[in-house]
Amino acid sequence: MTKDADGTVTGLIATNEAGDYVHYKASKGVIMCAGSYGGNEEMVDYFCYPTMAHFIKTYNAYNSKASDTAPVTTDEKMDDGVGHKMMCWAGAIMEEIDPSYQAWSIDGYSFAAPLAVNLQGKRFFNECFSSLSTSFPIFELPEQNNYVWQILGSDTFNMPPLLPIPGMTREIMDMIASSSEYYEADTIAELAEKIDIDPAALTATVERYNEICKGGKDEDFGKAPWHLNPVDTPPYKAFKENYHFYGMSSGVKTNNKLQVVDKDWKVIPHLYAAGNCVGWRMGSGYQNVVPGLCNVYAAVHGYFAGKNCATEN
Ligand SMILES: Cc1cc2nc3c(=O)[nH]c(=O)nc-3n(C[C@H](O)[C@H](O)[C@H](O)COP(=O)(O)OP(=O)(O)OC[C@H]3O[C@@H](n4cnc5c(N)ncnc54)[C@H](O)[C@@H]3O)c2cc1C
Repeated sequence: MTKDADGTVTGLIATNEAGDYVHYKASKGVIMCAGSYGGNEEMVDYFCYPTMAHFIKTYNAYNSKASDTAPVTTDEKMDDGVGHKMMCWAGAIMEEIDPSYQAWSIDGYSFAAPLAVNLQGKRFFNECFSSLSTSFPIFELPEQNNYVWQILGSDTFNMPPLLPIPGMTREIMDMIASSSEYYEADTIAELAEKIDIDPAALTATVERYNEICKGGKDEDFGKAPWHLNPVDTPPYKAFKENYHFYGMSSGVKTNNKLQVVDKDWKVIPHLYAAGNCVGWRMGSGYQNVVPGLCNVYAAVHGYFAGKNCATEN
């Protein structure tokens, strides 16, 4: 990025395909939309608290699209925070609240909130919460892992939709069993052995959970009654629910025109931000009960930042 003596942003220096530097002079302004900083370990360590930083660095989904038919074809770093750094060089400041981020557990949402236990075989949250909310207690667990075990019986019940994939549990079970780590046993104690959990602890948890389900009121964690389905029909099943980090939603401070501001809230002339470079848009938590929120922000910011930049300078 380039700026003149009074701090007005004047353009960018980029590298073309031949490796030559090209100086783009921006008469109207620069819109920074270089993505998040989730792939920059130094920035993650600086801005995130330790357990969150560990989760982000260890369990990120940046290569989740890689497969034999669609391999990753570039070693270019994703989300390296270079946009945030350039803007800070121009005088911007990062938001100061705990950074918000996206995490998701696809396998978790495939079922409608069944019993979930930690590695001690204990239930520890309301399984209906969004997978972002439940990722917090998961990465705070002593093991600092990224998964819980979902425990189900074999009865076929109508799934109340958590995401819009209603259907019969058995069909969903078959689908998930083919893609996620999955075990089956005739008793809860045997199932516990298979997933390396203390059999007595898991048996006690299932007994308590069944008691709750039969009473129709979750006095332990307040799960909605229509999600209380007892685990009482063998063979019993354990599905691993993995959580992954997808990206930071945290960036620099801007005003409502997407103009980037400095530490005194003064506009840095001709500098705009969009998408994951923009701070203060999610509070400290991305709500994935509104799917697509991040992509929508990126598109809407891009539109308004472009319009404001073109018409106001
Ligand atoms: C696996 C996965 C699943 C997701 N699922 C969802 C979802 O279901 N719903 C949702 O809303 N969001 C989802 N997201 C998040 C969403 O994709 C991002 O929040 C969104 O793409 C952010 O848009 P952006 O334009 O800010 O940044 P990006 O889409 O990251 O675009 C930034 C661009 O800038 C380029 N760039 C970076 N640095 C430079 C540089 N120095 N010079 C030139 N170019 C540069 C990058 O190559 C990239 O093309 C998902 C993310 C991941 C990783």
